[in-house]
Amino acid sequence: MKRTHTCGELRKSDVGQTVTLAGWVQNRRDHGGLMFIDLRDRYGLTQIVFDTARPEVLKLGHEVRAEWVLQVAGKVLARPGDMVNPKMATGEIELEVDAFNVLSRSIALPFEVDDYAKVGEEARMTYRYLDLRRPRMQKNLAARHRVVHAIRETMARHGFLEIETPILAKSTPEGARDYLVPSRVHWGRYYALPQSPQLFKQLCMIGGLDRYYQIARCFRDEDLRADRQPEFTQLDLEMSFADQEDVFLVCEDAMKAAFGAGIGVDLAMPFPRMSYADAMAKYGCDKPDLRFGLELSEVTDLAAAAEFKVFRAAVAQGGIVKGIVIPGGESFSRRDLDVELLDIAKPYGAKGLAWVKIGSDGAYAGAPVKFFGKEQLDAIAARLRAKPGDAMAFSADQPRVVNAGLAAVRNFLGQAKLGLAKPDDFKFVWITEFPAFEWSLEDKRWQSAHHPFTSIHPDDVDIMLSAGLDADSGLDRVRSAAYDLVLNGTETASGSVRIHDPQLQRKVFQALGVAPDQIKERFGFFTDALRYGTPPHAGIAPGIDRIVAMMLGYDNIREVIAFPKNAKAVDLMSDAPGNVDAKQLGELGVKNVEKPE
Ligand code: ASP
Repeated sequence: MKRTHTCGELRKSDVGQTVTLAGWVQNRRDHGGLMFIDLRDRYGLTQIVFDTARPEVLKLGHEVRAEWVLQVAGKVLARPGDMVNPKMATGEIELEVDAFNVLSRSIALPFEVDDYAKVGEEARMTYRYLDLRRPRMQKNLAARHRVVHAIRETMARHGFLEIETPILAKSTPEGARDYLVPSRVHWGRYYALPQSPQLFKQLCMIGGLDRYYQIARCFRDEDLRADRQPEFTQLDLEMSFADQEDVFLVCEDAMKAAFGAGIGVDLAMPFPRMSYADAMAKYGCDKPDLRFGLELSEVTDLAAAAEFKVFRAAVAQGGIVKGIVIPGGESFSRRDLDVELLDIAKPYGAKGLAWVKIGSDGAYAGAPVKFFGKEQLDAIAARLRAKPGDAMAFSADQPRVVNAGLAAVRNFLGQAKLGLAKPDDFKFVWITEFPAFEWSLEDKRWQSAHHPFTSIHPDDVDIMLSAGLDADSGLDRVRSAAYDLVLNGTETASGSVRIHDPQLQRKVFQALGVAPDQIKERFGFFTDALRYGTPPHAGIAPGIDRIVAMMLGYDNIREVIAFPKNAKAVDLMSDAPGNVDAKQLGELGVKNVEKPE
């Protein structure tokens, strides 16, 4: 007796049929004589009726409990008019039981399997298999499946080959720590789990495969934030004889297919573009949320002209002054401005935020006002496009502090405080012309802003070749050929045109302070390969977990990963990472030592 239908399938047109369903007992409403069960599977719910006319079946039915697995045979009946449930796809029918089998019983549950039960994170993760039964999780994973499927179709249409690359690999530099796997056969040697398939995909291009993609698992041993996972999935792609434009086109097509299949949203294409320099100037960050305006304006020239000490001092020390308009901010309280907004900017180093309100009559109010003439304030308000009824907030400090602080304030205003950002609005933007190098204060050396295989902006190759290696060498002025795809203020993909000239690759390693013997040891196989006829190539890697989470309206990618780890990188269900017995460690030549204090 196999199931003939799923629990989400029967309609009024099926009335009179004899069918068999199988599924889990969602709930049981026992009215003594009459009893109902909602039977659930991935496809939906069907109401099952146990009738008094069959006392022996009803008697067995009384024993059934939540989450038992049943197979139920019976007849499809039309529900009486007042019992029709328009909210349920199967709400016009019910199944009258002739006979049923208990396929499996459930012990008492740690929580109710429905979308309404309030279940703590820890219980959800410990009993993930029960959490997965909830309709919401089933919908999330089904949406993820549709997204990945649509992406695969798009990539195939563009001529990409899906190619698997090794998980047991050698370290690839994406700036995080590696997960290491000790080798049993080669004592003292380790595989690294790939932080991304970066080198392999470039080697695919050298290997003449022309267009590669993979739904690739990446592993990064980072200090975790709430929304990060030690392993995550990227749509990793690489294409030969291609430049930025080719990558953008394919990637936009993949995103369009993903949003269409995932949530039925038709994205407008092409996505807008913005240089890194413009993004920093207008939004103070390289991941602007473009669902709302509130652009930042630099007012250093106007601010420095007045006697206001805070502004003057900052400018005298090489700082800048930038402002943001707060629409309707005249009604903000002192607490809103002096506490709430400042608290947002403080973690980025801001020591204060100056503000000026503009009354409905155009009169200015706020601490800086008495130091400025009316025309000066008018000029500042004009630059910020502030009007009567608004307020303006200013930060004066080093550019890094001003930009980061005001970017956070802008996001807070647009997203939480003023509610200008709508959750079902999806605003993609390409950010281009990133700096190639960043000075690491910690390591006192230059680091790649993206990764060391990223090409240099053609206009800046000469600066790069002549620049020195110290902190003030001007390497930070060198732009790369890297790009990011940003969605609603979140980075969803990074990529670049790659270096295909072994000479330039050597120079970049040199700038990064990687010694020649280190290059040979770590990437020798790759720099060797570059010398055998490498096609120009470029690629990108959108994060699948993040994109699916965002389209479904979740902040946390755990909601779209079947078996995620918690914020401490622990799988609470299996308790990984686990202990290993001494014999196994011995075979690997590995010995645990006491953790230092
Ligand atoms: N490997 C890069 C990353 O994981 C993506 C790329 O450059 O294609 O961010």
